[in-house]
Amino acid sequence: MELRLRQLAQEALGALAEANSPEEINEVKVKYLGKKGELTQVLRGMGALAAEERPRIGQIANEVREQIEAALENKNQQVKEAAKLRQLAAETLDVTLPGVKFSLGKLHPLTQVQQEIESIFLGLGFSIAEGPEIELDYYNFEALNLPKDHPARDMQDTFFINPEVLLRTHTSPVQVRTMEKTVPQVPVKIICPGRVYRRDDDATHSPMFHQVEGLVVDKHITFADLKGVLATFARQMFGPDTRTRLRPSYFPFTEPSAEVDISCVICKGTGCRVCKGSGWLEILGSGMVHPRVLEMSGYNPEEVTGFAFGMGIERIAMLKYGIDDLRLLFDNDLRFLAQF
Ligand SMILES: [Zn+2]
Repeated sequence: MELRLRQLAQEALGALAEANSPEEINEVKVKYLGKKGELTQVLRGMGALAAEERPRIGQIANEVREQIEAALENKNQQVKEAAKLRQLAAETLDVTLPGVKFSLGKLHPLTQVQQEIESIFLGLGFSIAEGPEIELDYYNFEALNLPKDHPARDMQDTFFINPEVLLRTHTSPVQVRTMEKTVPQVPVKIICPGRVYRRDDDATHSPMFHQVEGLVVDKHITFADLKGVLATFARQMFGPDTRTRLRPSYFPFTEPSAEVDISCVICKGTGCRVCKGSGWLEILGSGMVHPRVLEMSGYNPEEVTGFAFGMGIERIAMLKYGIDDLRLLFDNDLRFLAQF
């Protein structure tokens, strides 16, 4: 029996040496020390021993149990240690490696310029009005003093959906819609930013582009108000030294009408390639609201007057950033967009 016990110890230690995981170690423990384990089986045979033999065999059995238990404990530690080392190796972090650069998103240059324009006019007491991009011929043309046979309609090559419905060619219909809602109250003091559509497509024209128009209607509004507001806008948008000039022009919905030029942002007025040597850049169209437009929206042109202006956001952005091809703004090329 003594021999069997010693053998058992050897077997258990041998099995333990092969075990490499907590599960395998536990299997060895159950097999040798468990309630139905090998050691228990051998000790069952103690009854058959002579009484004087029992204490000695009992002591050996205890030694064998302790030996196996110690070896189990030892092996457990080893396996845990090895697992920890493996985990550390797998999670190695080299703090000297360069960091991963995250690319930050930002607003499209056109959106940035639109927001800048909006914030300048909000600061001047204007509010923002919006309207539909699919518009009735009435609001886009007729209510703006452009009846169906008017030759000036050709100035805006139009996408018609049917004879009465079109893609708006300017944001002016929002002015008409706002006046209709506000009449007879004054003042009306709005800007209308948004997308507009014309059948143009080249380096300086896109079939879809953005405008901001402005409208002020009140008692005693004069051409001086128009000039003051637009000169203030130009100085805030392009710098405090920016000069403005007005040139006579024609728009069906304003009378008198004027193109507004600013001193060239590149050469400051001395003449360069961008301003074609003139020292001036055209940035927007403007004028006093035509009495007939006021009338059609329900206002009495004998009591109130107004001025209106409109600019292309793309043109402002191109001047501000020195971009010479409009199409770059719509190509969605990150190498270009990341510069703004
Ligand atoms: Zn210039």
